[in-house]
Amino acid sequence: MARYTAAVCRLCRREGMKLYLKGDRCYTDKCAINKRNMAPGQHGTSRKKLSNYGIQLREKQKAKRFYGVLETQFRNYFEMADHQKGITGENLLRILESRLDNVVYRMGLAASRAQARQLVVHGHFMVNGRKVDIPSYLVKVGDEIIVSERSKGLPKFKAQIEEAKGNAPEWLSVDVENLRGKVVSMPSREDIDLPISENLIVELYSK
Ligand code: SF4
Repeated sequence: MARYTAAVCRLCRREGMKLYLKGDRCYTDKCAINKRNMAPGQHGTSRKKLSNYGIQLREKQKAKRFYGVLETQFRNYFEMADHQKGITGENLLRILESRLDNVVYRMGLAASRAQARQLVVHGHFMVNGRKVDIPSYLVKVGDEIIVSERSKGLPKFKAQIEEAKGNAPEWLSVDVENLRGKVVSMPSREDIDLPISENLIVELYSK
């Protein structure tokens, strides 16, 4: 299970915006975007005007980085989205949102998607009564996601409860006190609050 392991703040600096990859730190003055919002590397101060292709490429990279997905898997999601009915770009975002690690993050039980991913891998979650430790597991309507009994007392979950209250999107019904949630509908485009222009990604892959 490949994943990006280098310094993640560089990714935000490359995209020129906060991608919120480090949880609480992203909301403090220590955030690298607050301190020096320039691209990483020797030529970071001289951002060149991007071609159309460059703009499309950056949009795809941004989406991948928000969700912590590498190229092959992202491309597979695009193929899946393209085969579904409806608008391909919206389908793509809906698939990304339905990853279990994202759902755990959206439920408010992790400070970042990266942390959610780690919690899932460590086997702290059950879906419909069965342990699922695969971050890319795609949830569907009716799925119940709960923190397993043996993990409920962990300080990290206790600490997250206050943070999580009232922050879940409408497509998830969350009972924070009991560390559980249910998928009541799949997210619509309006439910997905990330600054991603999915049509640019579709244009890129349609070349
Ligand atoms: Fe991005 Fe968070 Fe690092 Fe800021 S602290 S640059 S938002 S990962």
